Amino acid sequence: MRFRRLRLSGFKSFVEPADLLIEPGLTGVVGPNGCGKSNLLEAIRWVMGESSPKSMRGSGMEDVIFAGTESRKARSFAEVVLLAETDAGQEMEVTRRIERGAGSAYRLNGRDVRAKDVALVFADAATGAHSPALVSQGRIAAVIAAKPAERRQMLEEAAGIAGLHVRRKDAEQKLRATETNLARLDDILSQLD
Ligand code: ATP
Repeated sequence: MRFRRLRLSGFKSFVEPADLLIEPGLTGVVGPNGCGKSNLLEAIRWVMGESSPKSMRGSGMEDVIFAGTESRKARSFAEVVLLAETDAGQEMEVTRRIERGAGSAYRLNGRDVRAKDVALVFADAATGAHSPALVSQGRIAAVIAAKPAERRQMLEEAAGIAGLHVRRKDAEQKLRATETNLARLDDILSQLD
């Protein structure tokens, strides 16, 4: 999967709509301290489903919404759109939007979807909010200090099999629910006998 374009509106310091083209090859983002370079990487992680406000350097998820300055009013929502191209050459557009008091909503190619659906799409493409390919400040030390189980998780994400674990968990849940239904059915049948 290739990321092609990132659009932000009201996300952290990006109060005005910003549209960034990510061309093939190397893309560099330069700017003075505190201008929002890390916020861009966080926007990519956020649209892929990041659920921990702490790892977005906030105390609650609404902290990603532009909080206002002396001269500008705070915004009521933040939105990030990521346009990507799948390995099969298909265009894909993922949108995440958060409104104050209303939580996050996701869209995949214009359709409302769950956070889980978005996470699975990226997991299958060997990427996602926790991809080891996204190296933020302090991450290198965290990788070195990681426990074996955490390292294994990173390798599984890199190999694109993280989504299989989610699907297995779902399948196991369905199996348990079906077993319960069958047991109830047996009870009813034995009462009819
Ligand atoms: P450095 O080079 O120091 O690492 P940087 O260019 O990576 O800096 P970021 O850390 O991405 O900068 O951006 C921090 C800026 O984003 C700060 O000025 C902070 O005030 C601003 N910011 C973060 N969250 C919000 C928010 N919700 N509303 C408004 N501004 C925000």
